[in-house]
Amino acid sequence: MEKQAIQPFLTVANYNLLGQQMNKILQTIATSKDTNVVQTVRGLVQKEISENVVMTNSEAQLIEPIYSVTERAAGESYLQDLKLYVIPFKPITASTIKSLFKKEKKLKLPNLERLDFQQICYFAWDDLGTHRKYVILEQDDKLKAIKGTFANNTVRGICAICNRHADVGLFTTSIKGNVVGTYTNHSNYICADSDTCNQHVTDMNKTITFFERIT
Ligand SMILES: [Zn+2]
Repeated sequence: MEKQAIQPFLTVANYNLLGQQMNKILQTIATSKDTNVVQTVRGLVQKEISENVVMTNSEAQLIEPIYSVTERAAGESYLQDLKLYVIPFKPITASTIKSLFKKEKKLKLPNLERLDFQQICYFAWDDLGTHRKYVILEQDDKLKAIKGTFANNTVRGICAICNRHADVGLFTTSIKGNVVGTYTNHSNYICADSDTCNQHVTDMNKTITFFERIT
């Protein structure tokens, strides 16, 4: 009987997590000669992945080579093969964006041409002229639009989205208050470069919770 083909099952954040965890093993191998230490890290990686990635048995088997990785080149090519199983972000076109930001006059559209939907956990772009930052997020199978301002003067700090130490700037959103005409501002430091930020998101729930809190 023919084996049933495995359908894409990894979110972009899951895929980032696999890469991050694989690096942890490779870094341990590079810095420690103690096989017990390497074994321990392999075990921790396996635990971290199985706790955070929802998988069937056959899907779990498919990612097993990550735990036994010994050299970078093989690991990288293995990760590349796994791209087949990444669920891409919902397709976004110029008209999707216009309908998501209907109320926004003079909306500056992003360049969608070279966008790799298998590499984004959230989609963000800037209007440098107005200091606006626009974000599109997938939540409960729907696209959610978020608008804020982004301060250009960046500093080194922790990004509220990917939790990494990076060049960050203040992202400010406004929430309407109970009294008409009142607003509450929320300011958080996030990565100035949304592309690299995306590559470091390993837990989509945390990212969704963050955006929920500020909108
Ligand atoms: Zn970030």
